[in-house]
Amino acid sequence: QSQELSQARIDYHVALESLHQHGTQMVCTGKMHTDRICRFDYLCYCSDAEEFVFFHSNSSVMLPNLGSRRFQPALLDLSSVEDHNTQYFNFLELPVAALKFMPKPVFVPDVTLILNRFNPDNLMHVFHDDLLPAYYTMKQYSDLDDEARLVFMEGWSEGPHFDLYKLLSSKQPLLKEQLKNFGKLMCFTKSYVGLSKMTTWYQYGFVQPQGPKANILVSGNEIRQFAKTLMDKMNISRSEESDISAEDDKDKKEDYIVVFSRSTTRLILNEAELIMALAQEFQMRVVTVSLEEQSYPSIVQVISGAYMLVSMHGAQLITSLFLPKGAVVVELFPFAVNPEQYTPYKTLASLPGMDLHYISWKNNLEENTVTHPDRPWEQGGISHLEKAEQERILASKDVPRHLCCRNPEWLFRIYQDTLVDIPSFLDALKEGMKTKPILKKSKTATLVHPGRVREPQCQTSVQTTNEAKLTVSWQIPWNLKFLKVREVKYEVWIQEQGENTYMPYILPQQNYTFSENIKPFTTYLVWVRCIFNKNLLGPFADVLMCRT
Ligand code: UDP
Repeated sequence: QSQELSQARIDYHVALESLHQHGTQMVCTGKMHTDRICRFDYLCYCSDAEEFVFFHSNSSVMLPNLGSRRFQPALLDLSSVEDHNTQYFNFLELPVAALKFMPKPVFVPDVTLILNRFNPDNLMHVFHDDLLPAYYTMKQYSDLDDEARLVFMEGWSEGPHFDLYKLLSSKQPLLKEQLKNFGKLMCFTKSYVGLSKMTTWYQYGFVQPQGPKANILVSGNEIRQFAKTLMDKMNISRSEESDISAEDDKDKKEDYIVVFSRSTTRLILNEAELIMALAQEFQMRVVTVSLEEQSYPSIVQVISGAYMLVSMHGAQLITSLFLPKGAVVVELFPFAVNPEQYTPYKTLASLPGMDLHYISWKNNLEENTVTHPDRPWEQGGISHLEKAEQERILASKDVPRHLCCRNPEWLFRIYQDTLVDIPSFLDALKEGMKTKPILKKSKTATLVHPGRVREPQCQTSVQTTNEAKLTVSWQIPWNLKFLKVREVKYEVWIQEQGENTYMPYILPQQNYTFSENIKPFTTYLVWVRCIFNKNLLGPFADVLMCRT
């Protein structure tokens, strides 16, 4: 390992001189610790103290310079999970003069991204909290390229999905425990600390019950670009051809359904029967995959061509981000678990541009559930609880809303095994398929928003003492002439000056004369904007002041 960080590529004495002279330099983005990413020159790490160190010199820079607000509660979040108190980053400060009492620093020449993985044992967390955020953080800073070094500071070992993390760059990621192998004092020549939260869509329920994030900033496009890059790195070929479109039925017989099975917990007890039912209903091949039996690339290969993915609720469903456009995700929920309250995969499938059709099914028959009250609490056991509490949980038919992560009733219910009632499953499936939209190829045009309408104008005339007319006209947005748009409409808002309310109108043409509710000798404020295909709103043009 230390071979890899060979000092050959940097002149040790130049680096040491530079550290002494300039100290540490830090410049960050973000107003708050929750949206901050910092870039450092010569950020150091002391492995004995397990602390990052900022060396002050006459020319060091620390922006933002928060003073002791740096500890309220932290400089930044090291993981993509918002404001989690086990994931904070900070550093110690020392004068550069202290260096002469310290071990000789080892310099890391690579541009480094320093972060915490949130829960590297769980595939959903791996993708949602680590891989996607790291991928797009690297896109944000162009020197975090394929040669970048990732350093995981959460302190865990590699974990079962380390191969996935290795796909992010050509260099082996470093774990916290490995840092001491490089010496007592390590200095990162150039590093970035923190992760972008821009791509996350789900909050796990630390402060309010779990659910979609309030302000989702990612679309299916970015998720799919990421998936494509990962597949390229895994040498999985996939073309647009595999997108499921009802327009070409020619390779319908090639279509197949994937059942993603779990083999240790939250089982489907009649998987064979479920597979038979699916094959019969859709007249398709049904294949099963499981994390216990296949390599990750082979699972992705299978999923990336599937017509439908069927699985019990669980982390393995994150692989739906590799499904072709137009595919169907079917998520099964155990008894007493409300599908509307646990929606990480529904939210993913529903992101605009993901183009996945989501269907859920829940076991409503208590006789078809198999509970495990005697298991350890983290696998849903409840025998450690007081008798009355156990009885209350056993009698309840619906897990009430709760916070993460140790609610025993939730764990008890989510770790049940399920005998899937085939008739009710097929009913839910058939019902859900009724609303499956037809995927249209070449959809890029439907992502383009209108520009402002141009040259908006108004003309007014007074008819009688209580009648007036207001004519508003405008030119099409500049980008419209380059686009094929199915439907172009215009929205006009008319507000009488001084009033709080306005009258909205939707119009197909580029001018209109309003006479209803228009009063003489009155000033109206008029806004105009263009709308493509019912829901792609453009910006309003500058407001018009129209006096009758
Ligand atoms: N897992 C699996 N097979 C199983 C049970 C779990 O492959 O039978 C995987 C699962 O996909 C996840 C990890 O083990 O990556 C942790 O599973 P857990 O049930 O704790 O989490 P959940 O799936 O509910 O997020």
